[in-house]
Amino acid sequence: MTNILAVGNWKMNPVKKKDAENLAKDIKKVAQKYKKVTAVLCPPAPYADVVGGALGRVKNLALGAQDMSWQEKGSRTGHVSPLMLKDLGATYAIIGHSELRELGETDEVINKKIRTALLYGITPIVCIGERERDENGFYLGVIHKQIESALQGVLKKDFSSIIFAYEPIWAIGKSARDAMTPHDLYEMSLYIKKTIAGLSSKTIAMNMRVLYGGSVEGENAGALFEGGDVNGFLIGHASIVPSEFESVLENMTAALKRLEKKE
Ligand code: PEP
Repeated sequence: MTNILAVGNWKMNPVKKKDAENLAKDIKKVAQKYKKVTAVLCPPAPYADVVGGALGRVKNLALGAQDMSWQEKGSRTGHVSPLMLKDLGATYAIIGHSELRELGETDEVINKKIRTALLYGITPIVCIGERERDENGFYLGVIHKQIESALQGVLKKDFSSIIFAYEPIWAIGKSARDAMTPHDLYEMSLYIKKTIAGLSSKTIAMNMRVLYGGSVEGENAGALFEGGDVNGFLIGHASIVPSEFESVLENMTAALKRLEKKE
């Protein structure tokens, strides 16, 4: 398995530039010990510059954004242009996070952002996920619709440049015990790939990266990575505590070794 990611979504933390810089420096030290995993740090937009500077040029570290405008310039109060992100050296952007969908971001806007990101060579990390699970399996329809709409109008040759982050809303912001089980995650990963295959081909679907997000901590990272058939994680609260982030990286790396042995 290549291209394994641990994406840290710092959300609205920390609230001081100096703290953001120090957090980036601490995570840089930690991440350099686990070279098989690429750590993508997504700080609040005002700190992207200082965090990017602290990371420097290390192969398994990258800068990302928590959101991105679908327009490169113009009258868009509060938006962040892909050109600004590129200028700061950001190579990833989280798109369609459930916290933004909740504020009214539509599938249509998310699709525009994905296409813009691709145009500017920024890898979109597209969040999908159901609010709750129902016994009839209607939640699968929600995921299907989110994927279909995200890929609308995207050339098939570009599918592999998109990363889907499966983040069931019910599992976000809790603790490892409330996250998905590896078995359930495996089934979702399969479902996501089948859905993509239905819109393109099995080969394309197999080449796409799927991440999991929702209460990933050191405690559950190993089992989820080993059994979940994912290419890594989108991590919220554990990404702003260097020791917990290290524990995630350490457990992912150990799980990767076990998977490689099985191959
Ligand atoms: C998130 O909100 O993207 C997330 C994964 O958060 P947490 O890890 O805190 O559940």
